Amino acid sequence: MLPFDERDGWIWLDGRFTPWRDAKLHVLTHALHYGSGVFEGMRMYDGRIFALEAHTRRLVRSAQLLDFAIPWSEAELNEAAIETCLRNGLHNCYIRPIAWRGAEQLSVSALDTRVHVAIAAWPWPKYFDEDRLRRGIRLCWAKYRRPSADAAPTAAKATGLYVICTISKNVAEREGYDDALMLDSTGAIAEATGANIFFVRDGVLFTPPPSSFLDGITRQTIIALARARGIKVVESRIMPADLGAFTECFVVGTAAEVTPVGQIAEHAFQPGRLTFGLIEAYSALVRSRVSAAAEPAPAILAS
Ligand code: PMP
Repeated sequence: MLPFDERDGWIWLDGRFTPWRDAKLHVLTHALHYGSGVFEGMRMYDGRIFALEAHTRRLVRSAQLLDFAIPWSEAELNEAAIETCLRNGLHNCYIRPIAWRGAEQLSVSALDTRVHVAIAAWPWPKYFDEDRLRRGIRLCWAKYRRPSADAAPTAAKATGLYVICTISKNVAEREGYDDALMLDSTGAIAEATGANIFFVRDGVLFTPPPSSFLDGITRQTIIALARARGIKVVESRIMPADLGAFTECFVVGTAAEVTPVGQIAEHAFQPGRLTFGLIEAYSALVRSRVSAAAEPAPAILAS
């Protein structure tokens, strides 16, 4: 794969379009040393960024949770994201906005740093291996647990919180799995390293409440889509010992979309009607121009 710093195109950096290869930072940037960065992952489908406003709102909120303010309005950030896609000639792509503390101060204290923002976009069709999508991906247990909400700003999409995700995903891939499933600090099932998780039993959807991890925009969308189809959705604590009772399982996220899970450690699942139905419904929703016409728009998109 072409390294990310050796590509061509334009990156929106602090309000200006900068040639891709010139969008560089100093090595003494605060965020590199202390994890003071927040980011988003969004996708454009056929020229429209799905849930753009919800993602931008979360970016601004994530920064607040890390005790810094983004020096651009949500409207300006929305426009910059769309412009970034257009400027790069992209209509179907992944979009990565990021905000971070700069190099003005390099200590735990960061009150004198400036906050920077960049937005990049690139083509990125699928998160998981195409042929795994039908059979279901394989997950192992992650080495680390998600910190509890009183131990970290768990509602923020913060760079530093991904340290345990990267370690866990690397170990999983090295051992031949596709991803790792993380528990929360109490031992209940939390989420995968970059996606939320759902289970199916007797036609009912179950998912853990997002009390110590990201309440994903895809997660909220899937809950709304399922309910609009008359599928009951239960948010409840799920323990590893409960897994045997579920027949289907899938993970959801902007990058993962809706991906069936075929295995979690020793437990096997059979991707079925409910999972495939939601894959189709999600795929139609993200591509629909007027979402409310085809679907009751999930609250997350309307607010
Ligand atoms: N959890 C984690 C750790 C993630 O990185 C992501 C992807 N942003 C999600 C959940 C899903 O969030 P969303 O549906 O908003 O992309």
